[in-house]
Amino acid sequence: MNVANERRLAARATALGESADANTFAELAGLTRSESPLVRRLAASALGKLAGIVDSAASVDLLRPLLGDLHPQVRQYAAKALGAFGTAAEPALPDLRDMYRNPAERDYVKRSVVTAGKTIREALRIAEQQTVQACRKCGRAVAADEYARSQKAFQRTFCDVCFDEVFLERRNWETQVELNKTVQAANGTVVQSDGERLIAEELAAMGIAFRYDNRFRIVKGYAIRPDFYLPEFDLYIEYWGMEDNLDYRIGMLEKQKLYQQAGKRVLSLYAHERPRLREALRKKLSRHLRLAPPPEAPPARNAAERPPGRVASSSPPPAGATPGEDSPGQQQRRRASAPTPEGKCP
Ligand SMILES: [Zn+2]
Repeated sequence: MNVANERRLAARATALGESADANTFAELAGLTRSESPLVRRLAASALGKLAGIVDSAASVDLLRPLLGDLHPQVRQYAAKALGAFGTAAEPALPDLRDMYRNPAERDYVKRSVVTAGKTIREALRIAEQQTVQACRKCGRAVAADEYARSQKAFQRTFCDVCFDEVFLERRNWETQVELNKTVQAANGTVVQSDGERLIAEELAAMGIAFRYDNRFRIVKGYAIRPDFYLPEFDLYIEYWGMEDNLDYRIGMLEKQKLYQQAGKRVLSLYAHERPRLREALRKKLSRHLRLAPPPEAPPARNAAERPPGRVASSSPPPAGATPGEDSPGQQQRRRASAPTPEGKCP
């Protein structure tokens, strides 16, 4: 196999492992039989990541022969992946025991074999209700497959709900790192992506004041990306730069929900709009700011259409806003002169 082809298949195996898609099984099965040990190893690893999503028995059947692979790293990753399948991997226990006893087996392979064997046996004990393992986050007793899956992924015990949260949290951090490149817009604002640069430049060209907050925080377990805030309009702009990535998408929907609950107005721009981002921004802005005066005009020209004290806000805060408290927008405005405003996230 030539290097380019091997690289392509390796990338494919990795992507399938991140896909959280049960339909990838047949393709992964093919990749476990690749002539490239690298591809076989990554395919085994991907199967382990899909534990709880793909068919367990079929996956174990695919992984077991890989325990006898000529390449130690393939054996190692097959053992690791089997651990993730918990009780379903019981038929592999004798194979794992043989590997452990084999004096010729590599130490690093044996370490993975021991870990996988322990996880599978503990999952069997949980299934037989001879023991109870509690979720490290919420304290709920976990099922055998929940135990195995989270042990494999995090070396911790989580229930499925907390597993998803922890998984997403981690992924969001990784996504953030990927996005955490700095790009300077023409007006000097340092932003994190080319899309954000276009937004900053277009806002500047339209004479709209904005703040770009590049601080980064975790809200309810979600990593929140920097965004634009338009104080004149009490409006946020979010550029969703990786909407093709499933986990990013989940995080994006969560964040949009948080905005809504906090009564914030958000203008969303998406990666697929990137080729015509300036036009998309202008179009959506005009929709959001239908009732707003041009930026240089005095605010609240038409008081009847705006709640008192709010500048050019074309809609009342949604039901999620807490009465009696300042809206986040009001808090924002009060702190508008502070370089790093608090209270922006719920
Ligand atoms: Zn839990």
